[in-house]
Amino acid sequence: MDAPNALETARGQVRAACERLKLPPDVYEILKEPLRVLEVNIPIRMDDGRIRNFRAFRAQHNDALGPTKGGIRYHPDVTLEEVKALAMWMTFKNALANITYGGAKGGVICDPRSLSEGELERLSRGYIAAIARIVGPEQDIPAPDVYTNPKIMAWMMDEFSRLRGFYTPGVITGKPTTIGGSAGRDTATARGCAFVVREVARERGVELRGARVAVQGFGNAGAHVVAFLSEMGARVIAISDSRGAVFAEDGISPGAAIRHKQETGSVVDLEGTRPIGQEELLTLPCEILVPAALENAINADVAHRVRARIVAEAANGPTTPQADEILFRRGVTVIPDILANAGGVVVSYFEWVQNLQHYYWSEDEVTRRLEQVLVRAATNVLRLAAMDQISLRDAAYVIAVKRVADAMRDRGWY
Ligand code: NAD
Repeated sequence: MDAPNALETARGQVRAACERLKLPPDVYEILKEPLRVLEVNIPIRMDDGRIRNFRAFRAQHNDALGPTKGGIRYHPDVTLEEVKALAMWMTFKNALANITYGGAKGGVICDPRSLSEGELERLSRGYIAAIARIVGPEQDIPAPDVYTNPKIMAWMMDEFSRLRGFYTPGVITGKPTTIGGSAGRDTATARGCAFVVREVARERGVELRGARVAVQGFGNAGAHVVAFLSEMGARVIAISDSRGAVFAEDGISPGAAIRHKQETGSVVDLEGTRPIGQEELLTLPCEILVPAALENAINADVAHRVRARIVAEAANGPTTPQADEILFRRGVTVIPDILANAGGVVVSYFEWVQNLQHYYWSEDEVTRRLEQVLVRAATNVLRLAAMDQISLRDAAYVIAVKRVADAMRDRGWY
């Protein structure tokens, strides 16, 4: 089974785009490493009175196009390498969406489910204080990622404001709307994914009405993707989370699934469904497959058996490079993560803009602008892919790497 290191995957994607663009080797030399990495240890007083030291990271990959931006992941398996890869992906995701940001990412090695609310708050405040010297509205703006949420963003904004001495909402996005969060941020990743799926399906001749959809992962991204694609007329036949997968030929009601998950903590045993294997979900006959959990879900072995026509990467890095090639050869359209899940960072960007202007938009306004940004990005990717007969991922990286390289050239970096 291939489960490559995410950093090697990210570097390979960037290297391939640099070669395709015939850029001087200096460009890849700059892009292969983050510009800055901070590793910190955060001593936290636990509820039992003892001190525990948590290791954490912040990687700022590239700021040629603007201040760096990217989420903070809380996970027991987070590594510096993974954070560097995720930061790199953010640079190109932002460039592809054409928003004025570079890329960054943060990670804290912890299992948030085993921490009390007080411990989680002290750790979150401790993390932002430890990296405060390199973040800020003009420098680097964090956001939520896996196992972090608006409440954690609120603690971090408060702590940063305390250190600065004044209210600084623009330091972080994904905040609750009571303290400078944007309308529509919580559903933005999924909404964006649905817009992009709609554009790609239309171009590839896949009718969305009645299309069968399977979604792996039922968290912030996955659960809302289920809701939006259902609204567009698709039929979601399978969903899963870390505990298991379920199937219903006639379709799963998004509302019922969300309620069941809230009540029981899982989608397993959802009424009207039957259990299936987690991997079986990835190889079901369907039109659209949405991996919305973690990295490397679709490896070479799975890729040979995928029966979907379109794979929409709501998660970051769910397809291994080998699997990517296999899917391309088999004629399966993969919508790359830097396009499929860009909705989150685009609305994060809108949140930051609203914070800087102290002027807030309605949810309709946010959705309208999000659609505009993503339809433009998707159209550019589809056009280049058709012209050069390349995958949507290769096309997306060519567009994004060119934007970053042009900015670095004009700033005199090479
Ligand atoms: P989340 O923590 O809200 O949800 C993750 C879900 O995946 C959970 O339902 C979990 O049970 C499930 N899961 C974990 N392991 C699984 C497995 N082996 N099989 C099936 N399901 C499994 O996280 P999220 O915010 O929804 O993020 C999911 C992915 O989307 C990540 O790759 C993240 O980087 C990416 N993403 C999220 C956002 C966002 O705004 N939330 C934006 C861009 C990208």
